[in-house]
Amino acid sequence: MSTALVTGATAGIGRAFARRLAAEGYDLVLVARDAERLRSLAELLRERYGTSSEVLPADLTEDSSLREVEQRLEDATRPVELLVNNAGFGTSGAFWETEPETLRTQLDLNVTAVLRLTRAAVPVMRKLGRGDVLNVSSVAGFFPMSGSTYAATKSWVTTFSEGLAASLAGSGVRVMALCPGFTRTEFHQRARLEMDRLPKAFWLDADTVVHEALGDLRGGRVVSIPGVQYKALVALGKLVPKGLQRLLVTRTAPDRT
Ligand code: NAP
Repeated sequence: MSTALVTGATAGIGRAFARRLAAEGYDLVLVARDAERLRSLAELLRERYGTSSEVLPADLTEDSSLREVEQRLEDATRPVELLVNNAGFGTSGAFWETEPETLRTQLDLNVTAVLRLTRAAVPVMRKLGRGDVLNVSSVAGFFPMSGSTYAATKSWVTTFSEGLAASLAGSGVRVMALCPGFTRTEFHQRARLEMDRLPKAFWLDADTVVHEALGDLRGGRVVSIPGVQYKALVALGKLVPKGLQRLLVTRTAPDRT
């Protein structure tokens, strides 16, 4: 039985990964801050799929918690063969009005935790000669968004994943960046983002995102962009000069961090 560790497993895309992987027969290590929600998810997965789940409550922006999760990944006697670095958050409001501590915490979760957990997992996977690291990035990382700090964290995740995938070629360890567009989860509510005006066609659902992501990972893709609308947007974005993209953002977007 293979084991997968999913961060941010209590909600949204992470929860959808946990459910899907349990249905496929993986044992799970479930990581997020809300211990009660983690326990009830573990119970649900056990009842529905007969999966055994370890519950590992952790705030990944705190060094001691992050260390505990690293230690779990470094334990070669209980190897984790699939790491899903999913936990992340966005913010709303202008950069210059956002608490510096919030911005630092965003970097801690969206970047540092991804870096450290990947660094902890890869040596065990290399020794085994197999393993997958799936880093949840965003289409936002491809564009000069007005949510500049969030988009920059996701650019880092995508670039990091692509570079590491190249370094690990031939080792049996695969790395993929998953770049979803707008997906119905708790993300926007937590970030206090007003989404009422987003056309329906731009919304993805978490189960579809996970389905496409796992298909792309197993198909050997290094960057996964779920949904035809977002594949088209990213392809179009490559044809539009950055200067014009910035102009469009200036004209259309409200202030975001
Ligand atoms: P979500 O529904 O808000 O879920 C976020 C998850 O992260 C929750 O399980 C939360 O659990 C966990 N989390 C938050 N802070 C944490 C911390 N400090 N330590 C550990 N866990 C933490 O959001 P989502 O949309 O599923 O987001 C998942 C990923 O997808 C993120 O990386 C996000 O940037 C990316 N993404 C989302 C969208 C979208 O439109 N939804 C689009 C592109 C990319 P606890 O509160 O229990 O800790």
